[in-house]
Amino acid sequence: MSEQIAPRGSSGEGTKPVRPDVDRKARLKIPAHRPDKQDPVRRIENWDEVYHLFDASNAMIEAERCIQCPAAPCQKACPVHNDIPGAFWLLEQGDFNGAANIFRETSELPEMCGRLCPQERLCEGHCVVGKNALPVAIGKLETFTTEWQHAHGGAQHPPPAPPSGRTVAVIGSGPAGIGVAERLARRGHAVTIYEAWPEPGGVLRYGIPDFKLNKPSIERKFAELEALGVQVRCSTRVGEDLSWEDLRASADAVFVGIGASQGARLGIPGEDGEGVISATEFLVRSNLPPEELPEEHREPLGAPQRVVVIGGGDTSMDCVRSARRLGADEVTLVYRRTEAEMQGRVEERTHAVEEGVRFEYLASPLEVLRDGACVTGLRCIRMELGEPDDTGRRRPQPVEGSEFDLPADIVVTAIGYDVDSEWGEAAPEMTRDRWNRLVVDPETMQTNLAGVFAGGDDVNGADLVVTALADAHRAAEAIDHYLKTLLSETPRPGPLVGDSSFL
Ligand SMILES: Cc1cc2nc3c(=O)[nH]c(=O)nc-3n(C[C@H](O)[C@H](O)[C@H](O)COP(=O)(O)OP(=O)(O)OC[C@H]3O[C@@H](n4cnc5c(N)ncnc54)[C@H](O)[C@@H]3O)c2cc1C
Repeated sequence: MSEQIAPRGSSGEGTKPVRPDVDRKARLKIPAHRPDKQDPVRRIENWDEVYHLFDASNAMIEAERCIQCPAAPCQKACPVHNDIPGAFWLLEQGDFNGAANIFRETSELPEMCGRLCPQERLCEGHCVVGKNALPVAIGKLETFTTEWQHAHGGAQHPPPAPPSGRTVAVIGSGPAGIGVAERLARRGHAVTIYEAWPEPGGVLRYGIPDFKLNKPSIERKFAELEALGVQVRCSTRVGEDLSWEDLRASADAVFVGIGASQGARLGIPGEDGEGVISATEFLVRSNLPPEELPEEHREPLGAPQRVVVIGGGDTSMDCVRSARRLGADEVTLVYRRTEAEMQGRVEERTHAVEEGVRFEYLASPLEVLRDGACVTGLRCIRMELGEPDDTGRRRPQPVEGSEFDLPADIVVTAIGYDVDSEWGEAAPEMTRDRWNRLVVDPETMQTNLAGVFAGGDDVNGADLVVTALADAHRAAEAIDHYLKTLLSETPRPGPLVGDSSFL
């Protein structure tokens, strides 16, 4: 079906095979193709994904726009170094399976990353074609190939290694935990995932709404993990339902992938009480059936008509767009800087505008207004931008006397996430920084405790699916090495004790 290409390394640094038959000038003239998307008026009436999948012939044409540059800056910019040109070389020739297999070599979650990565600042942001035209639609082609493969027989992997006799406990079933569990299970280690929520998936399930990522792709991933022998114990919060000491005693190595789920607070009058709700709670209560939620989140949200969301990242976009799908007529986003300083994806903002969300830039909340217990609005103040702060973004400052009120039935806070401070009580001997992030050796992702590794948002702070996966790859490599070398010298130990010395 397609020309065989030399296998490529996954480091992102390997030498690319030169394809002499590629006429780059001709390829640059191929018009860009994009998959269709749902009309905004229709899509706020459902929770289906905004984009349809590419159709096969358009996907092949779009893949042919890749000029196969030997330096492959797209691959270098990808945190997991997907061999994008290699995959597209197969895709343009109709070998969709081969293309999907290339993505799967370096990513456990290509279906998710294709949909969720901020491609404009990663692979597509570095696409050479994008210098003078639309970049190659890398993310949407990644989604197309891997979804096509699922629809035609499923993911293909080499058989796993024989059982090693070693055990690994993974805490958290988000992208970091998934990445570690899959890589280590494929190397023959017995992996058990412990997850606090009733269903696995981390933020993929309990956060990101269906219109960005459909839930069957998460179900499929866990079915694959279970087929590999990975055990998943949900509704098990380590530190509460299972002690840290018992968990460590149960396994030869531990990976901590607990994410960063503690929503930051506004710190303004009126914040406490009914009607002010964190982004995660708002998203899970609007997106998921009650039986998949913990008791405290099962009450339906009702049908708020006026929703104000505070924040400027992807989470805030998920909230405003969910609010429109819940039927809210007036949905307003309040952000204290301008659009230029917003950190979320442009595509998400465009979708929100198309869906009728109003943006109040340069505005900061002062007080949640209430009539008795009921929220009636949010008092805000206008801001102006001053000198840059330590992040390089211009610091917002209030404009005296510019207060104004926005009517609201619900105020949603989406102003950032920190690592759960309770983890410090569960595992007090683990070194953390002043933001509660776990401190690791960046090469091996090992914590200060022997045999205990960590990665994802609990190390980086709130970040991305693909960066959690990249951490998982480094950690899995180091855990495998730890199990094979350190433990081959001794019989299976009891509880792991003692601190390692890198810190
Ligand atoms: C609303 C929202 C939208 C987002 N949108 C995007 C996007 O479009 N693109 C993108 O790339 N990224 C997005 N992100 C960020 C991305 O989802 C995270 O960076 C990623 O999920 C981090 O993976 P993780 O495995 O480190 O943590 P998580 O996904 O948070 O998983 C951690 C898991 O650990 C479990 N856990 C915590 N404590 C314990 C304990 N003590 N015992 C057992 N289990 C425990 C949690 O319940 C959770 O399931 C979004 C985040 C949010 C909140």
